[in-house]
Amino acid sequence: MTKQISFEFFPPQTLEGMEKLRKTWEALENLNPTYFSVTFGAGGSTRDRTLETVLQIQRAGLSAAPHLSCIGATRESLRSMLKDYKGAGVSRIVALRGDLPSGFVAPGEFRHASELVQFIRHETGDFFHLAVAGYPEVHPESRSNRDDIEKFVRKVEAGADSVITQYFYNVDAYIQFVDQVRSRGVHIPVIPGIMPIANFEKIVRFSDACGAELPRWMRKRFDDFENDAESAKEYGLDLVSDLCRRLLESGAPGLHFYTLNQSPLVAEICHRIGVA
Ligand code: FAD
Repeated sequence: MTKQISFEFFPPQTLEGMEKLRKTWEALENLNPTYFSVTFGAGGSTRDRTLETVLQIQRAGLSAAPHLSCIGATRESLRSMLKDYKGAGVSRIVALRGDLPSGFVAPGEFRHASELVQFIRHETGDFFHLAVAGYPEVHPESRSNRDDIEKFVRKVEAGADSVITQYFYNVDAYIQFVDQVRSRGVHIPVIPGIMPIANFEKIVRFSDACGAELPRWMRKRFDDFENDAESAKEYGLDLVSDLCRRLLESGAPGLHFYTLNQSPLVAEICHRIGVA
């Protein structure tokens, strides 16, 4: 069976950044991704840049999926973005709550991604394919695994078509998450999110900020390469390629790569695991 791959970008801040991103998607294009997704700054901070990046990708004849977060959004602002995306020929959206801004947050019209999914379905019917986020190692704000699964199932029942997971390095966490949601009647594809490791220190900082798990053994193994960035990179490449291989062997229907707007590492992993 063909496995679906997709690549995630963040919207560049400058024209130069956009040109670099163009080279990135051109380098990844021949890996035949199903789509390229573009993140969205919660609160709407990247609204125009996300739209512009999506338009550029679509104009290049490729498929782009904007992320859309509902935290701080109004019904009106969402309606207008859905109209823009429909007009641009976008058929797929990644629907999220969004990262909570630090400090005081005025209560918005939406609190959870399930409400966003419900709203999009109400406004546009089945027009968009809606992907939602899943957390094989439990969302950091959740009281318990059971509660997290409960809320996740509600989000899917609101009208999601597929799931992209937070990144993780523990295959068993993914397998158990899929088993749990399947036993609750969720049968849509659950695509593992894959974070390649170009620089482990960056991944540590990133994981601390977003609450993703980094196993202790990984931290220790990377300590071994303290003064040898090349070996660390090679080890990271082996580790993530092996993770991808094992996920596909365990039945994952595809892979979604967090590219951080860089192509070489992701392309190398795809070649190594034979999905390209
Ligand atoms: P939700 O599904 O709303 O869940 C958030 C928390 O609320 C969970 O603990 C859940 O259990 C709980 N919850 C859900 N429903 C209820 C309810 N009814 N009552 C009580 N509790 C409830 N962030 C961005 O800002 N921009 C992006 O572009 C972006 N892209 C992402 C892409 C992927 C693939 C992933 C995995 C994450 C992305 N994020 C992005 C991060 C995401 O916004 C955060 O992880 C956020 O904290 C949760 O978003 P969610 O959509 O999973 O929220």
